[in-house]
Amino acid sequence: MSDNNLANQEESLMQTYQRFPLTVEKGKGSYLWDDRGKKYLDFTSGIATCNLGHVPDVVKSQIIAQIEELWHCSNLFHIPAQQKLAQLLTTYSFGDQVFFCNSGAEANEAAIKLARKYAKKVKETHAYEVVTFSQSFHGRTLATLSATGQNHVKEDYAPLASGFRHLPYNDFEALNNLVTPDTCAVLVEVVQGEGGVIPADQSWLKQLAAICKENNLLLIFDEVQTGMGRTGTLFAYEQYGVTPDVMTLAKGLGSGIPVGAVIATEEVAKAFGPGTHGTTFGGNPIACTAGIATLNYMIENDVCSTTTELGEYLSQQLQQLKEQCPVIEKVQGKGLLQGMALKIPAKDIVNKARGQGVLLLTAGSHVLRVLPPLTTTYEEIDEFISKLYSVLFQVETERGTLR
Ligand SMILES: *Cc1c(COP(=O)(O)O)cnc(C)c1O
Repeated sequence: MSDNNLANQEESLMQTYQRFPLTVEKGKGSYLWDDRGKKYLDFTSGIATCNLGHVPDVVKSQIIAQIEELWHCSNLFHIPAQQKLAQLLTTYSFGDQVFFCNSGAEANEAAIKLARKYAKKVKETHAYEVVTFSQSFHGRTLATLSATGQNHVKEDYAPLASGFRHLPYNDFEALNNLVTPDTCAVLVEVVQGEGGVIPADQSWLKQLAAICKENNLLLIFDEVQTGMGRTGTLFAYEQYGVTPDVMTLAKGLGSGIPVGAVIATEEVAKAFGPGTHGTTFGGNPIACTAGIATLNYMIENDVCSTTTELGEYLSQQLQQLKEQCPVIEKVQGKGLLQGMALKIPAKDIVNKARGQGVLLLTAGSHVLRVLPPLTTTYEEIDEFISKLYSVLFQVETERGTLR
């Protein structure tokens, strides 16, 4: 095969992704460059992962230093970077102990196993069922796919893992059906990301938490997307006055180096003993070093306060667009996780925006998802808004609906 025949090389890959017709070669801060040197403002952040922007120097220098020393040794040995990152995560969250893995799906998989183990070993019940919610997204492994509340990702994978039940999200009535004798835990996103950028209603989440407490069910927050400052606090649950028993993290934790984590209270975490769960790569020294550098930078520079301010500004600007563009139905989100529900397929706007040098995501078919790095600036948000406006202006002109 000829080296420079990209189309043929792409054919060597399983076609599991609907990729944009764009080849990315370089990134710095909020910008990416393609293979022809064209510059793009990246408001996808590698899907809420590169929260400190692309190739942040503070993380890069630490990773390079770690690579010089050691990059893998297995979990048969003590790993200082793991201990340090676990200590930081437990200092800044409700949790007491951490298990490290490589992705969000693996973190949720471990949390589901922990919930079942806790029910059997500590509570000494037979309960196994985990309640999740419609439109939720928890990952692509067989169990996390079964937990996910979106049918399109499950097609043709039957039989799915049993032991999951789905209830409607933000629905008070549905909470009456939460508990059965088989139920051991609830797994929920504090803000649904992939499902359309839908924040949990605060009083609903509080009621959910109260029912869990009364009935001795574990409350598991999937903060894979919302964690690590994305919503304006280090973890989204901090804004709700509700504390979980277990929380999962991944995306932003390592600034793009693959690392996932399950954080739990000591009472719950003790259900996992030696040999009950494990991974070869999880908690790798490079990944944990990236996590330490990311978290330290965020704390030392109070990134969360800036994120809150920038998030308010972005949300105001999006609301203003809505006043002008009838194609926009609703703007909602938290911090720098913002969604715009549209009357037209969101991917049309994503494709047009790319032509203007702006990268965006969808969340479901009709929601535009805006995920700038947390290190973005007011100037970059202005650049984004003006380019998005020119795309929407064109769409509204075609529809003859401009206000
Ligand atoms: C992305 C995501 C996952 C899955 O993470 P992977 O690293 O892709 O396995 C799980 N839960 C939520 C809320 C996510 O946004």
